[in-house]
Amino acid sequence: MKFIAASIWLLVGLTGVQAQTGPARVLPSETSLVSDGYSVTLTLALSRAVSYRVFTLDNPRRLVLDFPEIDFSFMPANLASGLVQVSDLRFGYFNSQQSRLVLDLAEPFVVSSVAFEDTILTLNLLRATASEFTELSGAPDAGALPVAQAQPEISGTKGLPLVVLDAGHGGIDPGAVRNDITEKHVTLLFALQLRDALLETQRFRVLLTRDDDAFLALPERIRLARASQADIFISLHANTVERGVARGTTVYNLSEQASDDEAAKRAEFENRSDIVAGAVLLGQEDEIANILVEMAQRETNAASVQFADLLGSTLRYALDKNAPSRRMSAGFRVLRAVDTPSVLIELGFMSNTTDLANLLSENWRIEANRSIIAALDEWFTAAE
Ligand SMILES: [Zn+2]
Repeated sequence: MKFIAASIWLLVGLTGVQAQTGPARVLPSETSLVSDGYSVTLTLALSRAVSYRVFTLDNPRRLVLDFPEIDFSFMPANLASGLVQVSDLRFGYFNSQQSRLVLDLAEPFVVSSVAFEDTILTLNLLRATASEFTELSGAPDAGALPVAQAQPEISGTKGLPLVVLDAGHGGIDPGAVRNDITEKHVTLLFALQLRDALLETQRFRVLLTRDDDAFLALPERIRLARASQADIFISLHANTVERGVARGTTVYNLSEQASDDEAAKRAEFENRSDIVAGAVLLGQEDEIANILVEMAQRETNAASVQFADLLGSTLRYALDKNAPSRRMSAGFRVLRAVDTPSVLIELGFMSNTTDLANLLSENWRIEANRSIIAALDEWFTAAE
């Protein structure tokens, strides 16, 4: 059996093709994903041929297809449903010039052939052993994560405290999904409105880690906070639960020991962002980061806890009294900036209809913003 080596760039000639403006579009009627149990075939029809590369990643097993910018608007939504071999399929921006499609492989399948015919990409996967899969897997660029194309701009008057707002997820990583509403959309809506509210006070400077539908790896979010010398880093997310009627906001600070099972599960979900996006986690970096965390975190962590406590109480009194804000702690990777006090807010439960309506309501967000600004004012005053 002949498999294709792990990392390959395949460039498709565009001779004879007129220069076209805008990204290639997915044509849904000829796009499919099928399996006979032994093989898996992805057929992706596009409005024109584009360059691409394909590779597989282990732990967990994923297949990654990279393209220049692709318009996935018409991609069939449930392509992988009913297939036991492919447990999930995602697509979207990986960075501002690159789109990505990721298949989560429930079983070891490796690339056996891939080709463009006209404008239709056909990718064949064949079942392999676990060790064959491992041997053939690996990122072509040694695990490089996408970095921001340019350092995002800081808004506000020089000298004022700098608040970094981190809209969770983005691009190929949708976060939680309910009724076609994605967490990445909810967090961006909130971040943009909070930025404007903060700037209006003229008491803060603001930097957004992302202000559009871009994917940003977790280490890149941390890097932006540190590089900008942020005074506080606020990561914005929205919760979901499979069962139960949980509601309300939850404010988290970093702790290696989760405050309870729910907090541990939440951190596990949020920490999967880079895996979801088909990025490679570098274990070594993690180890070095851990040492730094131990050395430098005591002071930063005390400041984070202080702010999280303040925020928890201001949110509790400002918002729906039936859904009080909760305070928890867990090992969120995105909160590991060693010298930046950092908190993570789960703004509400997308699995609850009232919370979801709140998250999408401008008026609710105005109330939530007031509470966050009140907590920031108090925290910065106390620190003076
Ligand atoms: Zn999230």
